[in-house]
Amino acid sequence: MRASYAIGIDVGGTRIAAGLVERKGRLLKEAKALTPKTGPFGIIDAIIDLVNEVMEGTHAAEVAGIGIGLPAQIDFLKQTVEFCTNLPLAGVDVRSLVMSRVKHVVTLDNDGNCAGIGESRFGAAKGVRDFVMITLGTGVGGLLFLDGEPYRGSRGLGGEIGHMVIRLDGPPCPCGGKGHIESYLGRPALAEAGRTAAEAYTGTAIRDEAGGDVSAITAEDVVKAALKGDEVARGILLEAGAVLGEALVGVVNLLNPRLVVIGGGIGESCGFMVERAASVIEDEALAGRKDVSVVQAELGNDAGMLGAAAMAFDEYDSREGLHR
Ligand SMILES: [Zn+2]
Repeated sequence: MRASYAIGIDVGGTRIAAGLVERKGRLLKEAKALTPKTGPFGIIDAIIDLVNEVMEGTHAAEVAGIGIGLPAQIDFLKQTVEFCTNLPLAGVDVRSLVMSRVKHVVTLDNDGNCAGIGESRFGAAKGVRDFVMITLGTGVGGLLFLDGEPYRGSRGLGGEIGHMVIRLDGPPCPCGGKGHIESYLGRPALAEAGRTAAEAYTGTAIRDEAGGDVSAITAEDVVKAALKGDEVARGILLEAGAVLGEALVGVVNLLNPRLVVIGGGIGESCGFMVERAASVIEDEALAGRKDVSVVQAELGNDAGMLGAAAMAFDEYDSREGLHR
């Protein structure tokens, strides 16, 4: 029997979402929890609780498996967590710990990869054989989808678009590097730019969004002020869009994708930043590559969860000798 459902789990720095998903991407049941701050075993317990919650009333044989997207660098071939900045999961055998307590096969991947797989199967990149996904959130991640498949590199660690170098002497990146895309476009970087601007331009609405407290300004405050027409906030995000566009010129020249999908909380709320990036690509990319479409993601917060479920279906189908 061909299993009809898979469980997709998206583990974020602040919350964990789990869903029971049909093959065509319909989300049948969803459960969420705040990400525990009590160490790795607290996170594993929360994952198990969410699996049990979405599985209630469904027979185990109907479920293809569990896909888990983690905000971490994953060695996809070994299914191990190599590096994780926001959660204490580096070196933790997440897959075995979850599999020892559930009846299903677990597949891990990086959250940016899962979001890209979700957009590829059910969203903005449906049916596209060559595209690049970039997710702008607290971190900056993404996926290279080449010739109809996710491209993961020799050890499954590829596709870290957020850690491409923009400037050798640029600001520090949470990964330990310098001048990476994430150094300019991650939430901490945008919040810092917002605080600096609010100190320099006392009239900006960015300060009001944070209740008048400059030190409390977040990236979302900058986005909200910009969407209300504040010129200083718009300037910060247009500059961020230009940095994104510059980085993507290199990607487009190198890979000649048909589509660039920009997602994540910041990417999806900020259409004019995406347009700015698109216009830089149009101006700067090599001839013949300029027809690449730059679009916003379509699946919102569900992209990672749906992509994780799609990955679980794929794992099941290849195990059972079934073809998509
Ligand atoms: Zn980095």
